[in-house]
This record gives sequence, C-alpha cells and structure tokens, in this order.
Amino acid sequence: MHIVQVGMEYDVLKENNRIANSNYRLLKKNGIKAIELMGSIGSGKTALVIKLADRVRKKGLRACAIAGDVAGDDDQRRMRESGLDAVNCNTGRECHLDANLVKRSLDKIDLDLYDVIFIENVGNLVCPADFPLGADYRVVVISTTEGDDMVRKHHDIFLHSDVAILNKMDIADAVGVDPEVILGDYKKLTGGLKTMYGCSARTEEGMDEIVSVLGL
Ligand code: MG
Ligand code: ZN
Repeated sequence: MHIVQVGMEYDVLKENNRIANSNYRLLKKNGIKAIELMGSIGSGKTALVIKLADRVRKKGLRACAIAGDVAGDDDQRRMRESGLDAVNCNTGRECHLDANLVKRSLDKIDLDLYDVIFIENVGNLVCPADFPLGADYRVVVISTTEGDDMVRKHHDIFLHSDVAILNKMDIADAVGVDPEVILGDYKKLTGGLKTMYGCSARTEEGMDEIVSVLGL
C-alpha cells in the first residue's frame, strides 16, 4: 500500500527509475543479462526461476538469483537446494522490490561470477508494475489456478511487462479454467501484438519457447 501524497509519489518513482538505470548499467558493464519475474503468490515464480536456471546452467552459463519476499528465506532455500546460487532480499513490509533493494542485493553478489541473474519479485500483481529494477526483461507470471480473470483485473502489470507467462497449463482442466480465455484477454489487451506463453514449470511443457523468447 502506498499512502503518499501525489508529489512525493512522483519523487519516489523518479528516484527509483534513476537507480534502476544505474543497476542496468552495472549489469551491462559486467556482461550480465537480468530477468525479473513478477506475479501473485503461488503463481510458480520460484519453480520457473529454478527450471530456467537449470537450462541456463546446462548451456554452460553461470546463473544466480535474488529471492525477493516480505519476510523469510523459503524461496532462497528452494533455489539453493536446486543448486542455484541465491541471495535473499526481504522488503520488511513493502509489497514490492524497488531498485534500491536490488542495488543492495547486487552489492552482495560477485558479478564476475555470473552471466544471468534472475530477480524474483514479491508475490503481488499490483505495485511491482510501478518499480522497474533495471532488468533486461520484466516477466509477469500468472497461473491457471488463479482463475480466468487475472488479465482483466490487472491491466497495468501486463502493460508494464515485456513477457507474459501462463503457468500450470497441465492442471487447467482440473481447476476448471480454459487457458484460451486468458490468452485471448491478453491478446485483446495488447492489441493483438503480443502473445502470452503457456507453460508448466512442473512438466516443462512450453519451456523451450520461453527460453528462446528470453534469449537464454
Ligand atoms: Mg516464490
Ligand atoms: Zn508494493
């Protein structure tokens, strides 16, 4: 929740964008591609990071992750258990990462060691849209288990992201959701210009296409 005056909010966003640009330059200087994942709690962001990082590492590239959450280190532990280097980034009470938190996480990472960094945002489909972090790609992840109305309810995050993913395609039938409705809503929202990619991080269906879209 952002309870700030309009002028103050403008300054906060402007300062965030300034730091995001400097994060971007720092990453480029070190030859690192950064991919941010946004999406609700339970959409499968962590599972996707782990599966994408597996593929990146199989290609001989070096990957690590920044695990963003309000509290706790559960995602960081899951990542590390999969063999992925990860730093934890708790926001304390904010419901989104900002560029300064990411800058502080990048300070903890030896940037010489990596080619790709995944940044998992806090589970939230609203305010992360307003706070670019400096990544090459902003990816929004939703899942069939959230119902078929996510695109209709959350225009901003879909318009502020570069790539959209519909996860858990393998259980769409079981939860009574028609993926075509969601994919169609996204097509409509983006004027027919962009495609939402269906996948299952669990079965790895659709993952090849996502890897290629992200240039990994
Ligand atoms: Mg997670
Ligand atoms: Zn927030």
